[in-house]
This record gives sequence, C-alpha cells and structure tokens, in this order.
Amino acid sequence: MKLFLVPIFALLGVGSAYAQTAATASDYELDAKQAEVAQGLMEEALNSDLAYEIVESLTTEVGARLAGSEAEKRAREWGVKLGKKLSFDKVSVEEFTMPYWERGAMQVTLTSPYNQPLYGTALGGSGASSDTIDADVVYFRSIEKIKAVKDGELKNKIAFIDGDAMVKSQTGGGYSQANQRRRVGWQHAERGGAAALVVRSVGSDFHRFPHTGMMSSKEGTWPAIPVIAISNPDADQLRRLHGLGKSMTLNLHSEAAWKGDVSSGNVILDIIGREKPDEIVLIGGHLDSWDLGTGAVDDGAGVAITTAAAELIARLPKRPRRTIRVVMFGAEEVGLLGARAYAKQHESELANHVVATESDFGASTIWQLVSNVDKAANPVIDAIGRLIAPLGIARGGSEVANGGPDIIPLVEAGVPTVRLNQNGMDYFDLHHTPDDTLDKIVPDELAQNVAAYAALVYLMAELDVEFRTVSEQEPQSE
Ligand SMILES: [Zn+2]
Repeated sequence: MKLFLVPIFALLGVGSAYAQTAATASDYELDAKQAEVAQGLMEEALNSDLAYEIVESLTTEVGARLAGSEAEKRAREWGVKLGKKLSFDKVSVEEFTMPYWERGAMQVTLTSPYNQPLYGTALGGSGASSDTIDADVVYFRSIEKIKAVKDGELKNKIAFIDGDAMVKSQTGGGYSQANQRRRVGWQHAERGGAAALVVRSVGSDFHRFPHTGMMSSKEGTWPAIPVIAISNPDADQLRRLHGLGKSMTLNLHSEAAWKGDVSSGNVILDIIGREKPDEIVLIGGHLDSWDLGTGAVDDGAGVAITTAAAELIARLPKRPRRTIRVVMFGAEEVGLLGARAYAKQHESELANHVVATESDFGASTIWQLVSNVDKAANPVIDAIGRLIAPLGIARGGSEVANGGPDIIPLVEAGVPTVRLNQNGMDYFDLHHTPDDTLDKIVPDELAQNVAAYAALVYLMAELDVEFRTVSEQEPQSE
C-alpha cells in the first residue's frame, strides 16, 4: 500500500493552475515538460522499493559502521559496489586519515543504597579506568550546576549530571541545548578532579537504552576519565534517590580508548551533467554510524534516500544539464571529518557547487522544504515547492536552511542550500541507541522522501537557474 500515491497529481497538472492563479510579478512557473518529468519521478519513487532495499542491504550486510573501523571500510566497499551496479557514470572513494576511538567493555552499577545494574554506554572520546572505580556520587541537577564546581572539589568522586529527557517535537528542537552535558560536561568534571563522569542520555525515549555520541574536545584534548551516559529511566532513579536524601555510590569500569590514526573515506557517485558537467548539485548522507545499533535511521536512511533519488534520475532517457553528485560521507558522527575532508579536497571547485543538501534526520516523512539560496532564485524554489506539495510538504521560510551537518563546511565556503525537513517526532527516541535498527523504517515513508528528493534534485540540476548569490553570501552554521 502506497500512502502517498493519490490522484492529487492530476489536480495539480502540468503548468499548474495553482501557479497561475497565485501569479505575481515575481512568480516563476516551471516549464511544462520539466514539470512533467519531475512528476513522473515522484510517481515512480512512490512505487519503488529501491531506497528500502539499499538501507536493508547496508544494515544487514555491513551492520554497524563506527567511523574509522574495519566495518566502515566494508561500508565504503559496499557503496562502490552499489554505485557500479546502479546507473552512475563515475564511482570513486576519497580517503582521509583520522584518529580512531573505540569503546571497550564497560559496566556501571549502583552499589549503595542498594545494588542495581544501570544501562550505560561510553561517550565518544572518553577515557578508560585503569581499575574498577568505586566512589561516592556527587549529584548535579543540570550542566549549569556543575559549571560552578571548584577546582579539585570532586576528587575521588563520580560526578553525575542529570538534566531532563528531551521533549519530542517535529523539528527535533532542543537537541543542541540538551547536548551540552554530553559535549562539555567532562571539562567541568575533570577540572573538579572527578574519577569519572556519568550523564543522563540525550534522548526523548523512556526505554532503558543509553544514547551514545561524541563529546567536544577542549583545544584538541580529550578526557582521561571514563564518561558514561545512562538511560533516562536509570537517571530518573538516581534523581529520586537523591531527592530522598540518600547518598549513592557507583561501581564502574570502562576500557574505551583512542587507538591512533586510521583511514576513513567518502564514497562519491556522479551522474555527469549533459551540458554543464562542472556544475554540481550535491546530495548525500553519512555512511558511518554509531556502533550500538545498525545505523538504519542514522544515517543508512539518508544514504538510501539520496542514492535512490539519484538513481531514478539516472534512469531517465537523458542526463540532466548539471552533474548530480551523491556523497556518502565518512566519519560524520565523530566530528564531520568526511565533510571537512571533502571541502578541503574540492576547495578549488566549490564555486561550481550550485546547491547542496543532506538527508540526516531519520526516515520519517518530509513535511517542509526550506532553502538558503539567492533571493532571486526563491520563486524557483517556491515553484518546486508547489510541485511537491501533494506529497504533504509545505514551503517554509528561506532563513533556516542549513543543508544538514555534512553541508556545514560547504555553507562556510558559500554554497547555497536547500533542505527537506523530516518529521523528527521519534528521531531522538532512537538516535545513537542500540534500538536504531531497520524495523523502525516505514517503507512508504521512505518512498515519500525519495519522491521529494528526486523531483527537487532533478529540477535543480535541469533548470538553467543560478542559486548562488552573486553579490554576498551570509555563511550559517549549526
Ligand atoms: Zn546522523
């Protein structure tokens, strides 16, 4: 059953009546032939299982793909094989070197006022304990509270930074704020002299799945102490015990460590433009994942959506005017390393990157199209928005498009962006947990994503429109 395959395409028609009635002096109307091709792509995408087959293959045959690991290398080989099997004109891998962090065995147990194992996971970049640590807990209600800690005050203690579960929302708002305890909590714990740090996971679920994720380095240095995120229900339990005035002790152990430099890489699949091969419309997702689940939602889905959309375009009788490039970025989770390597490697060609966007917010349906392009091109994006509106997608303001995390280095270099915002209501239930697995992806929702990408990307590659502001760019970042 295809939820979105509805006859409203017919209502919209070619040369859209909507566009005509709403016409103003600045309105732009899509060429009838091009609009027809884009609509054909949408209908085909809604009837295609290609994206689901791709993410099924990646998560089943490769599995979890930690940045820099042997599994991530197998994922690159998988990407090359896929690109060659599909209709891409050029398939390549661009390698780069990165420092490799790996979790080892870990356990965390509440030992007083009673014994209870907790569900935790080491955070990316954290250190090991030379021995098992047994220590009293110092409770901090929030990241703000631990900022006030005095140097040395936490000696021989385990700091616990509480906080709150994230509130579910369509936009996933509140993540960067909640993330602070994961990102920089360790810097205050270490300054206080703590033997270890435990934080409440950054997530919106109430299952006993801990959420991992990368910390922020402090001028290139990482914590020497173990840093462990525990599940929301476990953090709730510690909060209640603290509320009862109970003193708590934890027993914990972690073998996480940095393992030196290794290779990672970006896989690049090109559909070469028939008239302007040097002008690039860049789309993609990230190939690496955290190691706890199989990275279906983050970001096997993004790789699958963008590859499938490009493949449908490649099956058209002729190539679009411009080149469409799918980048499967390596090492996103550990600090956008693949994205930075790409921007550096392609520095001299970034002026030819016409527009860029990434799918990296799960697999749920797209509800909004936003953009950050030259003002003069906004009516063109509006027209594309009207074309994809029957998929249930609204046109949002033009000021909020960041393109996605791996697009940040391109935005900094002045590349225009668009973004198809996905429904984030459940995203932070699964994000970076062992529960990020294929069964969470709804095939019809994935197909809706492919339909929107196929139409949008085809038109951006085919239309003779300049998206880059000739005068001035305002760089944005997340
Ligand atoms: Zn991601």
